[in-house]
Amino acid sequence: MLYFKKPIKDENYGTPNLAVFSADNKLPKNKLNKESIPSEVAYRLIKDELIDEGNARQNLATFCQTYMEPEATKLMSECLAINAIDKSEYPKMTEVENYCVNIIADLWHAPDETKVLGTSTVGSSEACMLGGMAMKFKWRKEAEAAGIDVKAKKPNFVISSGFQVCWEKFCVYWDIEMRLVPLDEQHMSLNMETVMDYVDDYTIGIVGILGITYTGKFDDIKTLDKLVEEYNKTAKVKIGIHVDGASGAMFAPFVHPEIKWDFQLKNVRSISTSGHKYGLVYPGVGWVLWRDQEFLPKELIFYVNYLGGEQPTMAINFSRSGSQIIGQYYIFMRYGFEGLKLVQTHTHDLAVSITKEIENMGIFEIYNDGDNIPVICYRLKNPENHKWTLYELADRLAMKGWQVPAYTLPENLQTTVIQRYVIRADFSAALRDALVQDMKMAIDYLEKNTHEDTAGKTKLGKQGFTH
Ligand SMILES: *Cc1c(COP(=O)(O)O)cnc(C)c1O
Repeated sequence: MLYFKKPIKDENYGTPNLAVFSADNKLPKNKLNKESIPSEVAYRLIKDELIDEGNARQNLATFCQTYMEPEATKLMSECLAINAIDKSEYPKMTEVENYCVNIIADLWHAPDETKVLGTSTVGSSEACMLGGMAMKFKWRKEAEAAGIDVKAKKPNFVISSGFQVCWEKFCVYWDIEMRLVPLDEQHMSLNMETVMDYVDDYTIGIVGILGITYTGKFDDIKTLDKLVEEYNKTAKVKIGIHVDGASGAMFAPFVHPEIKWDFQLKNVRSISTSGHKYGLVYPGVGWVLWRDQEFLPKELIFYVNYLGGEQPTMAINFSRSGSQIIGQYYIFMRYGFEGLKLVQTHTHDLAVSITKEIENMGIFEIYNDGDNIPVICYRLKNPENHKWTLYELADRLAMKGWQVPAYTLPENLQTTVIQRYVIRADFSAALRDALVQDMKMAIDYLEKNTHEDTAGKTKLGKQGFTH
């Protein structure tokens, strides 16, 4: 009743949304404000706070999905309240997650679908942790059985120096030695001539990367499989391969079915991927699958209630919204195999055509031409011939909204500055043309306007790049 008596002249009436006293409150940065503000004012203030955030679609630094269809985002926002771990409360979500695991197992040629185990995760990092832990537990059990003193040395695992930071975390969190096979000019992916030199009785496994984050290159998993097969013939503890397919494992099945890298290879025991990279879902989902439950030690499986029964879970995190799982299922249902092939091939073709344009500019050497995954990576052919560096080019492109990283390569190659463009499904021919034109204009400007004293020749970028 009181409500109706209230004078209509509320402070919000007749003023633009932000010209209200409640919007003049300080943004809470270190502690809560005392008073509440209306929801629409809070919305607008936060929107404003994000006003100079980069435009995600022009962010060519990221592998992560930057566009989903309105139907997908609607579905996903309608599922925000569903906690994916509450298996018995939300049995359909559990089923959908299992459908996704089955579909991915099929895409990765799991030899026996009844034996596959898999789970969704927050992303590839969690998925890689799980893959790594499974290797560690399995190794320990088998090493003990083989009479090896497992406490005498730290267990180790072998990976190229082009590893993503999640593997460093894995080693720190679980006290494992990381054995790095260095990349060099001749070996821009895992060096097959030397990789087995790093293996000994304390090796829990080898990680092959399908889509090295820095360059986009694929490790030659097929050759690695042969080397491991040979090693295992006489090994005290047989080892296996985990494929970190964060970007490539959701791309290669559609664009490069001829490349053998997945469960078709006997020694590939587990594979992880990011659903939010070429799985085409907004950030927050990854997947890890084991070809056979034999490779996921029982200690790592926990059981939660599921409709009076039990459902195995092996994720590290517990509660998480089911939205991203639904998003992944939407992508699978909406496109089907042929649709995904079309979408990914389109992205592939765009990347390759951008590379051609960059090559034609004549001053760049291409490291990755976007053919394996649509990641273009190049450096200045003769940096000494220019007064500018790729860092300045990145700065000029940023003025047009493009976010493109320039960075140095890992160990052994750390003096090489490269630039990388990640092309994604929401890129179009029109955007390609705009990018190429902006690049040409930027280079033209830099050639004419950079002077020895203003050039950032000595500017050192952050080493490596993690996403
Ligand atoms: C991106 C990436 C990761 C980490 O993935 P997130 O999904 O971001 O956790 C791991 N490995 C490789 C090769 C990657 O490219």
